[in-house]
Amino acid sequence: MPSLDPPAIDGHPVPHESAPAAPAWRRAGRRASQVVAALLVTVLVLPYALVPVYTAHSATPFSGPSLFNPYAKAGATWQRANFHAHSRAWGGLTSGRQSVDAVHAAYIAHGYDVAGLSNYHLISRAAGDTSFLPIYEHGFSIRKTHQLVIGAREVTAFDIPLWQTTQAKQYLLAQLHDTAALTAVVHPYLRTGYGIPQLASLSGYDLLEVRSHWNDASRWWDAVLTAGNAVWAIGNDDSHDVQNPREVGVVWTMVNASSARAPQVLDALRAGAMYVVAGTDSASAAHLRSVTLSGDTITTTFDRTMTNIQVITDGGIVRAQVDGAIAMRYVLTPADHYARVVATDAGGTLYLNPVIRSAGRPAPWGVPGTQFIASLLSRLGALLLWGGALALLLRGTVARRLRKQRGLVVASPRTSRLIALFAMVLAWPGAAIAQTQTRIQGQTQTQTQDQAQTQTLAPPAALPFRIGDYHEYDLKFGAITVGSGSLSVSGPDTLRGREVLRLRYEINGGIPFFRVHDVMESWFDTESMHSLRFTQDLNEGPKHYNRHFDFYPSEKIMLERGKPRAATVGSPLDEASFIFFVRTLRMSPGETHSVSRYFRIDANPVTIQVLRRETITVPAGTFNTVVVRPIIRTSGIFSEGGQAELWFTDDALHTLVQLKAKLSFGSLGLYLRPARNRR
Ligand SMILES: [Zn+2]
Ligand SMILES: [Zn+2]
Repeated sequence: MPSLDPPAIDGHPVPHESAPAAPAWRRAGRRASQVVAALLVTVLVLPYALVPVYTAHSATPFSGPSLFNPYAKAGATWQRANFHAHSRAWGGLTSGRQSVDAVHAAYIAHGYDVAGLSNYHLISRAAGDTSFLPIYEHGFSIRKTHQLVIGAREVTAFDIPLWQTTQAKQYLLAQLHDTAALTAVVHPYLRTGYGIPQLASLSGYDLLEVRSHWNDASRWWDAVLTAGNAVWAIGNDDSHDVQNPREVGVVWTMVNASSARAPQVLDALRAGAMYVVAGTDSASAAHLRSVTLSGDTITTTFDRTMTNIQVITDGGIVRAQVDGAIAMRYVLTPADHYARVVATDAGGTLYLNPVIRSAGRPAPWGVPGTQFIASLLSRLGALLLWGGALALLLRGTVARRLRKQRGLVVASPRTSRLIALFAMVLAWPGAAIAQTQTRIQGQTQTQTQDQAQTQTLAPPAALPFRIGDYHEYDLKFGAITVGSGSLSVSGPDTLRGREVLRLRYEINGGIPFFRVHDVMESWFDTESMHSLRFTQDLNEGPKHYNRHFDFYPSEKIMLERGKPRAATVGSPLDEASFIFFVRTLRMSPGETHSVSRYFRIDANPVTIQVLRRETITVPAGTFNTVVVRPIIRTSGIFSEGGQAELWFTDDALHTLVQLKAKLSFGSLGLYLRPARNRR
């Protein structure tokens, strides 16, 4: 009997309304396989609609005038810690053998001070755990790209299960970064969850699990350190069965903390004050006594004679070693940007964190910036690929059912695709605009700033902005209006006994199902001309960020909600106040102002170049303007050579008339609207 199947296109059977009816079982089977294929395409492709294109950190060896020794302030008390152990969870679906309490009890019996449980996507707490540290293991991808989320405030459920590009891994690390004290990449060698150069190019994670009962990730670690990312090592059993002596008590982290309580342990992990031991419970392992620095000489001392001590530097090269010694001295050469020690004896192997060239306390790379247009195209591409594949797979099925059941007139596929495309083109620029707006302050250029002249900037007698100022702008991507923006000044308010103005910067855009509403607000002390508080409320489609910074300028301290206190400059300015502050500067073409007042210290100095005078026309009218280009020097984070220019009225007020961010693929702009109810 000849086949009654309709013709196939590209291997997909194409149901056709006029095709002769196939037997019912065959129709059902075909529909089932279509649904499975549609689900597969969805899982494989749709997550990429969320993944932007990041600007990778450029690899730059550690540098700086001083050496950072993570053990410089080490006290006498060490806590034996394991952060990675699985219990039975999810009804036995994941592979832990024993209960939460049994796993915890087993580690305490093995002499651990910190017995962390790390179930998949689940924060577990044992009944007797008095020094509870919330941890979970993130990831269910088939390639075992897993992360340990330590000091987790919530569980990030989302993962990309099938195939993760480097950008996807970066996206996931960025999600975790915002919800936990520390993120550790674990077992990168298992199914090559992370490639070696790949891990060295990623950022937004703090720690690397350098040893587990599975294997050794030293090669990954050296690649990361060689790239200049200050990621510290932890070591864990990653046990799934506490009865198995090959899995338990074989790899641990010695943490230099005064107690096993979570805050102390987290502080030590952040500072690198720990080392990894791969040993066994049947033999006692050696202990680190001290790491001391004298000039460029590093002296590492243990509590007993070690069989072998090695010094490893850039590229993972063993630069020096000694056999049968209790201590080792190594003089750092100019070619060494970090140096770490690995020491072995019969009791096990100790992996120390490196001494690093630096200007202050080194920190791991944060989440990188994103490339606006590339992200837009990539996301749009994912949506189109997904939509196209679904349309191809389910063509006929859905439309036929709708027509049959509801008598609906369904737009032709081509029309609905055009509508969807148009909607997306409108929506996605809005999505990234806030980011771009932030980045306008964050643009960087690699050109040298030789000609930059540092100037003492005395506060002007009269501020060029007043309470009640309100300026509204059209927000455009190329020629398309995608929303509006505004700058406003309100107050006066009082904050910590100081009189402040509230400088507000707002962006509205998108379309009904994808709204962008971003507000940044600065509490600006007009007498001292610095910011006392900065809030960001960013809503971009499904994403929401709420950040709250309090600045204590006299102590050069900032407190970000949910984060430990951090250093800032003595007279901080934030994204919102910077744009107002710039207006107080003298603006003669050819002049360059260098301002080291951006609250994120490492992005200073901000250079403000006054480029030219220009007469321009915007919706509000024609203006004589002076054109300014702000440049924030960040260590290669925003290596995309975008340029931002701001047009201010060429008068004492320096009203912002126009702002353009030129990117490699197009331009974004704010254009002053006619005053409506400006006071
Ligand atoms: Zn895992
Ligand atoms: Zn695990």
